[in-house]
Amino acid sequence: MRAEQDHGRFSSAPAEVCAAALAPAVATESPQEKLLRRLCAMLSTYTDADQIEKVRESFRLADRAHRGQSRKNGEPYICHPLSVAMILADMRMDSRGIMAAILHDVIEDTQTSKEEIAERFGEQVAELVDGVTKLTKLGNKSRAETQAENVRKMFLATARDLRVIMVKLADRTHNMRTLAAMPLEAKKRIATETLEIYAPIAIRLGMDQIRRELEDHGFAAKYPMRYRILDRTVKKRRGHRKEVLATIESTIKKRLTQEGLQCQVIGREKDLYSIYRKMKEKGISFSEVFDVYAFRIVVDEVGDCYRALGLMHALYKPLPGRFKDYIALPKANGYQSLHTILVGPYGFPLEIQIRTRGMHRQAESGIAAHWLYKVDDREASDARARAHEWIRDLLETQKDGGNSQDFIENLKVDLFSQEVFVFTPRGDIVKLPKGATIIDFAYAVHTDIGDSCISARVDRQLMPLQTPLENGQTVEIIMTEWARPNPLWLNHAATAKARSAIRTYFKHFKRQEAIDLGRRLLEKELSGMTTRLDDIPHSRLGVLLKVLDYSSLEQLLEDIGLGNRMPVLVAKRLCQDDINAGIKLNEKERGSNSPLAIKGTEGMVVNLAKCCRPIPGDPIIGFFNPGKGIAVHLNDCKNVTEIRKRPVNWLELEWDRNVEGDFLVEIRMDVQNQRGTLATIASTISRLDSNIENILLKNQDDPISSDFVTLTVRDRIHLARIMRQLKKLPIVSRIARVRA
Ligand code: MN
Repeated sequence: MRAEQDHGRFSSAPAEVCAAALAPAVATESPQEKLLRRLCAMLSTYTDADQIEKVRESFRLADRAHRGQSRKNGEPYICHPLSVAMILADMRMDSRGIMAAILHDVIEDTQTSKEEIAERFGEQVAELVDGVTKLTKLGNKSRAETQAENVRKMFLATARDLRVIMVKLADRTHNMRTLAAMPLEAKKRIATETLEIYAPIAIRLGMDQIRRELEDHGFAAKYPMRYRILDRTVKKRRGHRKEVLATIESTIKKRLTQEGLQCQVIGREKDLYSIYRKMKEKGISFSEVFDVYAFRIVVDEVGDCYRALGLMHALYKPLPGRFKDYIALPKANGYQSLHTILVGPYGFPLEIQIRTRGMHRQAESGIAAHWLYKVDDREASDARARAHEWIRDLLETQKDGGNSQDFIENLKVDLFSQEVFVFTPRGDIVKLPKGATIIDFAYAVHTDIGDSCISARVDRQLMPLQTPLENGQTVEIIMTEWARPNPLWLNHAATAKARSAIRTYFKHFKRQEAIDLGRRLLEKELSGMTTRLDDIPHSRLGVLLKVLDYSSLEQLLEDIGLGNRMPVLVAKRLCQDDINAGIKLNEKERGSNSPLAIKGTEGMVVNLAKCCRPIPGDPIIGFFNPGKGIAVHLNDCKNVTEIRKRPVNWLELEWDRNVEGDFLVEIRMDVQNQRGTLATIASTISRLDSNIENILLKNQDDPISSDFVTLTVRDRIHLARIMRQLKKLPIVSRIARVRA
């Protein structure tokens, strides 16, 4: 009701509106109105009036949406988004970014939808608000403390538009300002996140003012005691220090200008968190960090850098071994400067950086570019060059407060387009190349997980393994004990890790299977000669291996299993001495009568022929396929007639008694072409506990079509039952199993 009244142009004014109209404006100004007034004043220095009107409108929507909500410190909630907008206005954010800031919490915390925002303020503002909402959710999902680097990158990858990141940073800045109202536990967690995720992002974007504020609040909240002590110590020492700084600065400046050098000398003081970090990282005392005076000398030309250096070394004594020439030998990220450390007038070390204006700019952008694109491949280098340009522009426009239109154009850089970041169920982040699938994810987590995965839940939805992943998704792999990699996975794996793991698996797996099969085949032949492999004397085995040029029995067995060597011939050679000695062997030269039992699921070295598709219960025969193992055919398969003529190549087989599993078989049906025919057939088949793998329809336009259906069965009995039921259907006129 309320919302409608506010919208309704001609509705009679409610009491409070009348009151507001009557009373003097300033006296009744609410905290949010005051903030809005100040915000609009800031905007008016760089934005058109009609844009400001739109900002006011976004305020009206947010104000209504958040009505009744308040912050932990008791303020009306709307004060928070307004403050966030003010932080951004200070950086000359464009009006869309400002609107997004004002609306940044409405999707997450109120009934307002993205569509509603798009309708009233345009697609861009809606996208920005949506982007911030997504980041907020990602932030809640990740276990930030253990993987800061990846969270930072994921933020940038997800944000697309850098304004989203800037709104998020401003949001965090205001939350840090008002952190006092939060419970202790939350305070520490938020502070850690701020120091490890948000402050570094600010550094990389050149938003130094925000970085300093985030770090200062973060440090104070995370280590209140240390902060207080350090703060007190710095204040105590600063008075004395100021004088020293000024003295040294003027001494340097005077000396350089005396020698005709145009230069700028800047004294640099470290902030509390930097001092703390340095103490901790380098294990040094406060005095060692604080009592270092740092100056930067910026000159016009490269030659001036070396002249300035010479003058500095003449002015104060340099510390041996501390001079570095990054001008002649730039750092990998392009950074250039001369660094030296001098012994200052009071015995304190004096850190000096000397560079040209150009190098100064390069230094700021070079580091950022380096951070944004760590990958060192060709494709990235174009993007890097663009980002380089962009960061430099970003830094410069911010500094000069210049053209805000250029500034916004430059924010639309597509960052990290080569990478995708996803979560494990525990909240760990996995970084993958773009286009990576669930298979890549599984292998990235662990090879064993890759080897035994069958599917996955992506954001709780069941998905097939070849599904490409998107930023921010949570992936839970489903595994079973019996799962095995599939060679087809190679088509869907984008990472080298997954591909090589799959290949290794097959190499190893095939070898082991071949050895097992080779052993069974050889034992079978030997048993026909009334002996066993174990009973063959070692010396005799050794001689044979040597003659055949194998270094181990396993190698020989592998070759037998792969069909490269006939087991009967190997058995004969092993028993040759016995034969020569006249020891009586089994009559039948070809070996044992009993056929080799197979399960059909042995894997890669026992293959069920696709021409006749044998299933358990069928009479079968095998033949050696050199390099590939044994192919299993129906006894009466047409393709076998030829092979049978070469007795040494084939082998009698039977189905193992405990055979289990699903086997593919093909049937052909002549079916009346009418509506619903396929559905009837499919439902009949599935009712009988079988799955259709493939259907091929022929003569579809004739009254009777021929359908070729490939389906899974357990054995002949199962197949017979299915065929019987199908035949009963009035639409089926003929049915037969396809054999070759
Ligand atoms: Mn917020």
